[in-house]
Amino acid sequence: MDLSVVIPCYNEEESLTELHRRVLAACKSAPVKTFEIILVNDGSTDSTLSIMTTLCDKDPHVVIVNLSRNHGHQLALSAGLGEAQGDYIFVLDADLQDPPELLTPMLERAKSGVDVVYGQRAERQGETWFKLFCSKSFYRVLSFLSETDIPENVGDFRLMSRRVLDQLLSMPEQQRFIRGMIAWIGFKQEPFLYERDARYAGVTKYPFMKLMSFAIDAISSFSIRPLRIAIPFALIGGVLAGLLGLGAVYSHFTGGTITGWTSLACIITGFAAIQLLCIALIGEYVGRMYIEVKRRPLYIVADVIRADHANHAGAKPTKKTAPKIAKKTAAKAKSKTTKAPARKKAK
Ligand code: UDP
Ligand code: MG
Repeated sequence: MDLSVVIPCYNEEESLTELHRRVLAACKSAPVKTFEIILVNDGSTDSTLSIMTTLCDKDPHVVIVNLSRNHGHQLALSAGLGEAQGDYIFVLDADLQDPPELLTPMLERAKSGVDVVYGQRAERQGETWFKLFCSKSFYRVLSFLSETDIPENVGDFRLMSRRVLDQLLSMPEQQRFIRGMIAWIGFKQEPFLYERDARYAGVTKYPFMKLMSFAIDAISSFSIRPLRIAIPFALIGGVLAGLLGLGAVYSHFTGGTITGWTSLACIITGFAAIQLLCIALIGEYVGRMYIEVKRRPLYIVADVIRADHANHAGAKPTKKTAPKIAKKTAAKAKSKTTKAPARKKAK
């Protein structure tokens, strides 16, 4: 298989038909012989799945990955990537904000030896100033806190090579900030400047609270610096407490001990604040360790539907797909090898 196009979809009934038309046209005019279009249904509550089924019946390139419920954008994308069989993998959103027609120029760049060609937004149509402001602030904080160089103004719109995908699939972490993980993997990565269109139809599936939790996931899975913020606070608190202690001793010898309640109050409140901060920070990371050690499958695929209906409905694909990443990790730990097991390449 030359190319896999992976598209996570959540309640995208209004965009799907147009999306399929444009993606199919882009693939047909691209320099590839064989390709598949993987549509992930992330627990949509509208007619997304039935439109997908119609498309699958009409077009043998379409593969549907139907998740058991809404897992969120990053896990839906992971599910689609887990099914991809292509030598190159093209990821885009279902709302046509990322033009599928850029496939050919991006593929040309990739074929010249670039492992990841990631779309970088030169301009963003149809976004509110508030969203642009939040996005800018987020990338500022992220680049300050993280040691991995994560490019700004970049979404998941990208074209990557098989070896990058194999590495990505071998990473078992639960909080998946995919664009950051790909940046962390390395190899040759280059930006591809483009103008981001407005949504073709419907509304954003990233309301403010979802965006916030995405940002927290991204920052805490890419940095332990927030943990270290506790250190300067503890130092400043220590110095202040020392000075207050000296003041208390001094006032004891000068006869005004009863007045010491002020410094006592300062010490108690100061330390309580510092301890609370430390507990909150440690709690965040303990929570993350808790999630990681559970080693749950990242997602549960109800069924994988291909146009040939070979894998149609049934427990087989579910069992095969769901624990893919967890199983790999177990095998890795057992054999104690440092190299990630290469994924079987199906052609
Ligand atoms: N999406 C998804 N699951 C979700 C939320 C979003 O699969 O829980 C998909 C959505 O259908 C779209 C992509 O993720 O293809 C990006 O979402 P959206 O366009 O709403 O985000 P925005 O562009 O507004 O940041
Ligand atoms: Mg969008």
